[in-house]
Amino acid sequence: MQLDVFTLFPQWFDWFRTQRHVENALRLGHELACVNYRDTTPLSGGQVDDTPFGGGAGMVLRVDVVEAALRARYDCDPVDLRERRRVVVLTPGGRQLDDPFVDELAAEPAVTLLCGRYEGFDERIVEHFATDTVSIGRYVLAGGELAAMVVADAVLRKLPGALGHVDSAHEESFSAALDGAPEYPHYTRPAEYRGWNVPEILLSGHHQRVHDWRMAQSRQRALDAEASAPASRSHEPADDRD
Ligand code: SAM
Repeated sequence: MQLDVFTLFPQWFDWFRTQRHVENALRLGHELACVNYRDTTPLSGGQVDDTPFGGGAGMVLRVDVVEAALRARYDCDPVDLRERRRVVVLTPGGRQLDDPFVDELAAEPAVTLLCGRYEGFDERIVEHFATDTVSIGRYVLAGGELAAMVVADAVLRKLPGALGHVDSAHEESFSAALDGAPEYPHYTRPAEYRGWNVPEILLSGHHQRVHDWRMAQSRQRALDAEASAPASRSHEPADDRD
């Protein structure tokens, strides 16, 4: 996979690259590049943003600045780039990142992540340059860099060979192997600690019974999570019928 991150803070990713699974993925031939919007801005003084039409606080990342950065990197009109690679805008209101979405991105040969800052993107960037939007949760971060790292981390660890143990990414929370449920609990030595005992079944050596117990625990966690989830709130205006 060729993963490109467009950002105003490429140096943030220096640390990210030192993570073991990222290093492993890069050693296997995958690529992670960071591109600074400021390096190719057509505006003077390194300007990349501007005040919003219609008024309001904050600054908006300009469409011409993002186009210049994409053109310089890919040598094509960014409108056509979408036929060659997934171009993902990071935005709080985007498609929620989940395991199936991560699998989808991990299967792509080339992905571009666009990080916003300030008030976010001029909407024409989303409309004309992007194939997808992604949100890492229903809250607002100061910028897209941490969100891009979340996406990159989740995607890169799915690539074959990125994790040390081949089974590590197979049977884990939300995977198909667990029918999308959270993972079962793990325990390690000591088997007894302060009177807290490891479930007997895990010490039994019965592989099938251990497997069955784990699946049951995983299903139970899915039910518990469902039960504790807040009731979905409608964003529709209040119904004023009497
Ligand atoms: N004004 C925007 C809004 O209300 O939706 C928030 C802009 S936020 C301060 C700046 C940038 O951070 C966004 O353009 C996006 O790239 C990134 N960002 C913030 N929260 C995010 C989230 N939950 N998921 C993905 N990206 C996020």
